[in-house]
Amino acid sequence: MITTTLFPGRYVQGAGALARLGGELSRLGGRHFVICSPHPLERLLPPLMPELERSGAVRVERFGRECTDAEIERLLVLAKDFGAETIAAIGGGKTLDAAKAVAARAGLPVAIAPTIASTDAPCSSVCIIYTAEGVFSRVDILPKNPDLVLVDTAVVAAAPARFLASGMGDALATWFEADSCRVSRGANIAGTPGSMTAHALARLCYETVRDWGVAAMTACGAGVVTPALERVVEANTLLSGLGFESGGLGAAHAIHNGLTALPGTHGLYHGEKVAFGVLASLVLTDRPLPLMDEVYALCGALGLPTTFADLGIGAATEEDLLRVAEKACAPEESIHNEPVEISPALVAAALKAADAEGRRRKAE
Ligand SMILES: [Zn+2]
Repeated sequence: MITTTLFPGRYVQGAGALARLGGELSRLGGRHFVICSPHPLERLLPPLMPELERSGAVRVERFGRECTDAEIERLLVLAKDFGAETIAAIGGGKTLDAAKAVAARAGLPVAIAPTIASTDAPCSSVCIIYTAEGVFSRVDILPKNPDLVLVDTAVVAAAPARFLASGMGDALATWFEADSCRVSRGANIAGTPGSMTAHALARLCYETVRDWGVAAMTACGAGVVTPALERVVEANTLLSGLGFESGGLGAAHAIHNGLTALPGTHGLYHGEKVAFGVLASLVLTDRPLPLMDEVYALCGALGLPTTFADLGIGAATEEDLLRVAEKACAPEESIHNEPVEISPALVAAALKAADAEGRRRKAE
C-alpha cells in the first residue's frame, strides 16, 4: 500500500516568535513581499520592520479582505514588479491562503505567520477561494506546503479566546476523522491512505486538546502565554494540520459543510460548526458512552456548540435538517470515509440525537 505524508518545511512557535521572521525569511531569499491583514499591518508590523529590513528588501501590501482570484492576481503582479524572492503573510486564514496561492503561481517560497489559532489551515497545502461577495467558490490543492509556518503565541494569547476555542473544535475532529480513514483506507489530501505518523499525530492532537484545552482557554482569556496555551496552539496549528491533511477527513467536516446550508449558522466560525459535526459523528459511528461523555463535557467547557440553539438553528425544521444531511452526503463528501452505513436519513437522525443529548446535559 502507498501512503503519503505532507509536511510544512519548518514550524516555529513561541512568545515573541515574530521577531525571528526576518532571520527565517533570509534563509529563503533576499527580497520579501509581505502580505498583511489590516490589524497586524497597523499594530504588529511597525516594530518588526527594522529587523525585517536587515534581512533583505521589503515591500508590504495590505490584504484586500477576500481570497478571490482577482485579489491573488493583483498581489501576484505587485510581487513580480517588486522582484520578490519570497512571499510572506501575517494575519488570518484568508490572508494566509492568498499568500500561499500567490507563491504557488509565482513559484516562490512562502512564509506563513497566523495571528490567531482558529483553524488547522496554516500548515496545509489547501487554499480556499471565495467570490468577491465572500461566498465559497472552490478548494485549490497547491503543489507544496508552506516553507515556513511561524506562530507568535503572545499574539495568539492577545486575540479573543473564541478563536482559540474554534481552533480546538477543528482540532477535535482530526483524530476521529483520521481514525475513520485508517479503518476504511480512506484517502487523504494527496489521494492515498495516511501513514502511521499521521495517525499518531492525530491522536496526540486529540489528547492535547482534551487534557489542556480548558487551561489554555483560561490563559487566553487572561491574555497570557502558559505552557498549556503553547501546547494547544501547537495542537490546533501543527498537529491538527498534519493530522487532517495526511490522515484524511470524515463525517465531521462533511456535516460542517452541510450546516452551511442554513443561514442561521453563518455567524459561527469553521471550528465551531466542525465541533458539532464531531458530536453528530459520535452518534453516527456508534461510539461508546464514556467517549461521548468526554467529548460533550469538553465542548461544554470550551463554549463550543452542543445544541441546535447554540448553532443558531434552534428553529430548524425537518426539511432544514434533511437539507443539511443531503449536502453532507453529497457524493464527493468525506463522510463516505466513515466505516459505517451512510444516508441522509441516518445523518439527520444523528444530528437530532446530538442536539437532544446536548439539551439533556444543559438541563441537568
Ligand atoms: Zn477544518
